[in-house]
Amino acid sequence: MSYHVNEKGFYGKFGGAYIPEMLYPNVEELRQNYLRIIQEPDFQEELQALLKDYVGRPTPLYFAPRLSEKYNTKVYLKREDLNHTGAHKINNTIGQVLLAKRLGKKRIIAETGAGQHGVATATVCALMGLECIVYMGEIDIERQAPNVARMKMLGAQVVPATSGSKTLKDATNEAIRDWINNPENTYYIIGSVVGPHPYPDMVARFQAVISEEIRAQLLEKEGTELPTYVVACVGGGSNAAGAFYHYLDESEVQLIAVEAAGKGVDSGESAATSILGKDGIIHGSRTLLMQTEDGQVTEPYSISAGLDYPGVGPLHAHLFESKRARFESATDEEALQAVLELTRLEGIIPALESAHALAVLDRLNAKPEDVVVINLSGRGDKDLSTYLKHFHFDEK
Ligand SMILES: *Cc1c(COP(=O)(O)O)cnc(C)c1O
Repeated sequence: MSYHVNEKGFYGKFGGAYIPEMLYPNVEELRQNYLRIIQEPDFQEELQALLKDYVGRPTPLYFAPRLSEKYNTKVYLKREDLNHTGAHKINNTIGQVLLAKRLGKKRIIAETGAGQHGVATATVCALMGLECIVYMGEIDIERQAPNVARMKMLGAQVVPATSGSKTLKDATNEAIRDWINNPENTYYIIGSVVGPHPYPDMVARFQAVISEEIRAQLLEKEGTELPTYVVACVGGGSNAAGAFYHYLDESEVQLIAVEAAGKGVDSGESAATSILGKDGIIHGSRTLLMQTEDGQVTEPYSISAGLDYPGVGPLHAHLFESKRARFESATDEEALQAVLELTRLEGIIPALESAHALAVLDRLNAKPEDVVVINLSGRGDKDLSTYLKHFHFDEK
């Protein structure tokens, strides 16, 4: 069984490029060039230098002693929260902006829901001196004011999507319309392992630095590159794809993907895509997505804005169907408890998204000699108002 993309852009039966004809030239230009450019020595040299000195890589692999003691196993945290801008997303935007430059593009577009990908994109555009336009649903602009302020401060133009539900889906439609109208000078940076081929593969390759580093760091700390478990949360699936990538073909390493159950998998308010989803097409690829009987995409829900997505990338749909990865889910409440637990046991305030991965520690049945690596995808600064509201610190 292969877990890598084939020449046609598929992972098993998932993936592909189901796009309008007018988008074909743009996607085809990328498909024909991405592997060649990424493999060029001067591209790699520039990428590695920026990952080191700008992003702050390698991120530490931290042995968490008090968390380990509590769960009676060896828990390591891959500290993506320590990256510049506070999460793993910059690994991908740095890679894609360098690719855009090599393709001679002068204008960068992106869409964003919670604003995290928008900020990571605006950041690398400032770094490279490129024009940046971020499409964002009108409602999300209101909900995510601090990230909108960051993007504007970085010099990006934030364009509200005012149609439909005025959220991520509508922002995506606007971005695609822009790209169709500006095929020559514009590059579209997608923020997760979603979208038409070659995006899922390209984003997975840029995030794969996470598992490349884990292997080397575990060898040093445990005398083996292979942990018993790798655990990561899944929205679109990019941090999980990065954490899993160099372990996909190591069958003894158990891969655990954690989705957001929201108010409960069966509550009607959740984002547990693989468990609830059916085969369908979203954002240009065939994958598992939450939909009604007649194929309308269901509005997802999670307290965590980064996991609030109705699909998963095609790689994850394939990992689910082939049972290579085990899919778990954590509710809002479980994630919040995990936030407080990590904060109080290790002095690390995690992002709400990452806390979903932490929340399944007690379900792994890990043995004392097992090694559990949890990908800590981001830091909790952006979620502080949620934490304050939920934990009522002002009353204690
Ligand atoms: C965006 C985000 C996620 C979810 O995106 P993936 O593509 O599934 O990784 C997870 N954690 C953090 C901190 C994020 O910002």
